[in-house]
Amino acid sequence: MDLLNTLVEKGLRRELPTREEALAVLATSDDELLDVVAAAGRVRRHWFGRRVKLNYLVNLKSGLCPEDCNYCSQRLGSTAEILKYTWLKPDEASKAAAAGVAGGAKRVCLVASGRGPTDRDVDRVSRTIEAIKEGNEGVEVCACLGLLSAGQAERLREAGADAYNHNLNTSEATYGAITTTHTYADRVDTVRQAQAAGLSACSGLIAGMGESDADLVDVVLSLRELDPDSVPVNFLIPFEGTPLAKEWNLTPQHCLRILAMTRFVCPDVEVRLSGGREVHLRTLQPLALHLVNSIFLGDYLTSEGQAGQADLDMIADAGFEVEGTETTTLPAHRRDTAGGGCGPVCGARDDEGTASHGTGGHPGGCSPCGGTGRDGGEEPRDGAEAARSAGAPGQDGGNHMPGARPGARTDLVTVRRRGAGTDLAPNA
Ligand code: SF4
Repeated sequence: MDLLNTLVEKGLRRELPTREEALAVLATSDDELLDVVAAAGRVRRHWFGRRVKLNYLVNLKSGLCPEDCNYCSQRLGSTAEILKYTWLKPDEASKAAAAGVAGGAKRVCLVASGRGPTDRDVDRVSRTIEAIKEGNEGVEVCACLGLLSAGQAERLREAGADAYNHNLNTSEATYGAITTTHTYADRVDTVRQAQAAGLSACSGLIAGMGESDADLVDVVLSLRELDPDSVPVNFLIPFEGTPLAKEWNLTPQHCLRILAMTRFVCPDVEVRLSGGREVHLRTLQPLALHLVNSIFLGDYLTSEGQAGQADLDMIADAGFEVEGTETTTLPAHRRDTAGGGCGPVCGARDDEGTASHGTGGHPGGCSPCGGTGRDGGEEPRDGAEAARSAGAPGQDGGNHMPGARPGARTDLVTVRRRGAGTDLAPNA
């Protein structure tokens, strides 16, 4: 297939595919699916071998967000029966992080709901970063606190943060239909602030929100231009109690095509399979390891993932290996470019390996990469109380979503009831 040969050659050269080529990947048939996976897999192996980086989410502050991101179970007006709690203390967060590191995670992602942090919030997250770094040698810490104000990225960097996550989520053209309380430009601005402060930028997307293939290509092309070091690809988890609860638009096959397209457009960056992989890829998850070089271990912010041991078994059974702290994730040409990412649109870098940054656009987060915001005025409560207030398990005896409809796999959506913010052990 000429298209795939061309895309492999471009990926090995870090050359940008055309918009038409990226769209053509999404338009391939199921008969061509394994050819698409094999081609994008060649690009993945060229830059990252068979290594899989594990990341571990710690939800520092859950629910009660004043923003209105339609995809998010923590949004303003959400009736999803998720855990709701205010800031974890540094020792609580450090304990949760240590469980992830013990399970094989190389990066800990500290996420808080809300529009963006206050300076006081940055102080408390700084203390948390210090506690995690003290207790876990060599661990990378990424903060995901929402929209940043002047000077906050620098303060997080000084506290020891390695990276900052803020997703673009969807195309600039459709952003207004997903969120009205902040703009696409706000998100781009925060990613740039993180890069300017020397933080490694992490910015990605959410697929399955009713967008077109053209929107998906547009957001991935914008990410390449924005040049993050890591690109999380989330698949919408349609929570009951949110505006997108009925949006079951993805098939496992199309999820693989989306991941392949992202790999071709961002060949040499950490492409991370993120929220929704169990729900939408289901038994095809192992094939995705041929496309991505990074996944989350265990649970997400407000929903449960498969058991951490199942993640490790899947990686081993598929012939991949968990990346250790002694290995640098990014290829050599990217390592000295703090804040650099997919590579500029032209695909070229200068001899020093510095990226030229273009304009671009980021998901807020929280699914799983969380958004940020100011306190909603909630009072601290202990984990047990938080779990109780989140509601009782569903009628089937678990925490599954009610109201399944044809095509929907609500049976696979399980509200998180363990780990951070509860008295129960984390899944790692
Ligand atoms: S994605 Fe972040 S900012 Fe948006 S509603 Fe969720 S927690 Fe709030």
